[in-house]
Amino acid sequence: MALDDITRRIRAAEDAAGRTPGSVTLIAVSKVQPPARVEAVLEAGQRVFGENYVQEAQGKWPGWRARFAGVELHMIGPLQTNKAKAAVSLFDAIHTLDRSSLARKLAQQMDEQNRRPQVFVQVNTGDEPQKAGILADELPGFLRQCAELGLAPEGLMCIPPEAEDPAPHFRLLRRLAEDHGLAGLSMGMSANFETAIAEGATHVRVGSAIFGARSYD
Ligand SMILES: *Cc1c(COP(=O)(O)O)cnc(C)c1O
Repeated sequence: MALDDITRRIRAAEDAAGRTPGSVTLIAVSKVQPPARVEAVLEAGQRVFGENYVQEAQGKWPGWRARFAGVELHMIGPLQTNKAKAAVSLFDAIHTLDRSSLARKLAQQMDEQNRRPQVFVQVNTGDEPQKAGILADELPGFLRQCAELGLAPEGLMCIPPEAEDPAPHFRLLRRLAEDHGLAGLSMGMSANFETAIAEGATHVRVGSAIFGARSYD
């Protein structure tokens, strides 16, 4: 199955980059995929999954979690503030912390629910006006705010501009993470996860290369 091929390619990229084998976490991005495809990947042993929509994830994952032990769910899509409560209860990691209002809401929900999913701050490395994420210049101030709220981000996440070479964006994200002593780097998708691993990714988010193309109808 495609999962095996991706796993092999991740190991080879770790090796080529002199990274510790197994140091990169594969997040299998299962958004809008037919359930049979996701179940096949669960049956093959994959346990870390990424979803983009709170409601969709709420509908599918409680059932799978009851059947497959050890599932870890990562939220990788834009998160509305009014979904923070559900997100904190459902997800083990949230990769898309991108604004102060959401930081406040997540901190409040973590306190109320006494649950601490890992948090990644999304950085808009390409300075794209339509894209979510904190601008590199604003990251120090944003991380200070997070600390004041009691949030301790695990790392940074980015989605490079589609038409550009992703490597400089991955490199920028790594430098920013190093500047702030953050260990996690969530970067790299189907088209570029090997480049991301070469640049230091700790988490790659791979969807279509594992499950096949998504259809949205
Ligand atoms: C959908 C999505 C992915 C997976 O994309 P593929 O190209 O299918 O691997 C990764 N990251 C984010 C943020 C996504 O929304």
